[in-house]
Amino acid sequence: MSQKPPPKQFIKTPINGTKFTLLVSSAKGGVGKSTIAINLAFALQNLGLKIGVLDADVYGPSLPKLINLKEKPKSEDGKAMSPLEKYDAQFMSMGFLVDEQTPMIWRGPMVISAIKTMTQKVLWKDRDIIIIDMPPGTGDTQLTFAQEVKVDGAIIVSTPQDLALLDVKRGIQMFDKTGVKILGLIDNMSYFIGDDGKEYKIFGESGVEKTAKEFKKEFLGHLPIHKDLRNSADIGNPLTHSNPEHEVSKLFRVIAEKIKQSFH
Ligand code: ADP
Repeated sequence: MSQKPPPKQFIKTPINGTKFTLLVSSAKGGVGKSTIAINLAFALQNLGLKIGVLDADVYGPSLPKLINLKEKPKSEDGKAMSPLEKYDAQFMSMGFLVDEQTPMIWRGPMVISAIKTMTQKVLWKDRDIIIIDMPPGTGDTQLTFAQEVKVDGAIIVSTPQDLALLDVKRGIQMFDKTGVKILGLIDNMSYFIGDDGKEYKIFGESGVEKTAKEFKKEFLGHLPIHKDLRNSADIGNPLTHSNPEHEVSKLFRVIAEKIKQSFH
């Protein structure tokens, strides 16, 4: 008797060349998701993991700037591409393939096809973990990952602002519904320490932690607004890579340790 193939929505293809795949997502743009993704990646590298970073934001890739890489990936057979290498890590982004000035005017099916290419046709080599910098929101890219890619966990980045939190709840529900395990929530731009040494909570207080509690998810930590974090993004050398002992890098290390533990 012939067996029925499993329903299509349950066929999740793993990314080859890595042991674990972690999504870094946010419900809204501008909350620091890409900054967190790249710094968390190097915090994990500092713990001894071999890392790769995939920038899945097809419309607004930020990885080329965050690590100051502008080469084109090579392909030997015209089908699969080798990731770029820098700082002992491997990288892939749509930004390596198209000119920085070219706007991506794509419809959904083209985005889905680009995501499939980037998850199935990149020759990652010998990685412990691939960190995926997702575009903001709950659109085609998120659904493609949730339904078609084998993902080991997701983290959600937000600021403590009420408006951002409303969207976070939507993000949590999307991952829950599609069976993607949420490893926890990160509160970015939680506070700012002024020259007077005082803490200023510019975007409000503890909202992300409360949301995590409400949905019974782990809260992974607070990160401050810090000019060195912004500077490191501007010069293309993530803070956790250039200065692992920086006070902010140490906060990333604590979060990286929690993530590493949840994978073992
Ligand atoms: P997203 O990926 O959510 O759109 P980005 O990571 O691109 O956000 O961050 C938006 C801007 O905010 C960037 O200029 C980045 O350098 C800056 N930024 C993000 N997080 C912090 C932080 N904790 N402290 C200082 N600047 C930050």
